[in-house]
Amino acid sequence: MEGRRVVELDVMAREMYCCRCNLPLHLSNTVGERLYGLASVLLIKCDNSACLATTDVHTGKRTPNGSYCINSKVAIGMTHAGMGPSHVNNFLTECNLPPISDTTLRKKEKEFSKTIHDVAMTSCREAQHQEILLSHGKIFSNNDPWVVLLQLCYGDPTTSKIATVDKNKNKLKCPKLLNFKQELTEIWNEVTG
Ligand SMILES: [Zn+2]
Repeated sequence: MEGRRVVELDVMAREMYCCRCNLPLHLSNTVGERLYGLASVLLIKCDNSACLATTDVHTGKRTPNGSYCINSKVAIGMTHAGMGPSHVNNFLTECNLPPISDTTLRKKEKEFSKTIHDVAMTSCREAQHQEILLSHGKIFSNNDPWVVLLQLCYGDPTTSKIATVDKNKNKLKCPKLLNFKQELTEIWNEVTG
């Protein structure tokens, strides 16, 4: 075994026991390694001459789907630092650490981008919801989401503005407005339901 590794000491400490006879294992008895990006599985042979079993020792925590947390954390760090996979791997190589494939980094980046998007959307909806609740229902004085939309855009619209929008609302085709209308309808149903 050459080079450096990133290990989670508590995880490794728990795993350094023989899978057959339960005696403590020694790192110097490592007979092989399977690399998974920055994480690895060390194959360590038992010292006990009556056993000699080889145990798989994981160097870090895994998610429920079996992937190693360290690789996800590197992908998050990569995005925060504004780097790309090649920057990350140049850095790792200089530190004499194992590389993580570009595909893995991009895949992980895509996974948590979706999570960040979902969290942002939930937060926006929650803010919208709070605004409606704090307005003591005024924002929904008329239960038509189009009027609510007008209220959000223009503050407190006059009756004539409401009537004009009401008359022309079917002409509005903008997908963003239609989505917004759908969301308002859902919130309306939730608040009044
Ligand atoms: Zn053993």
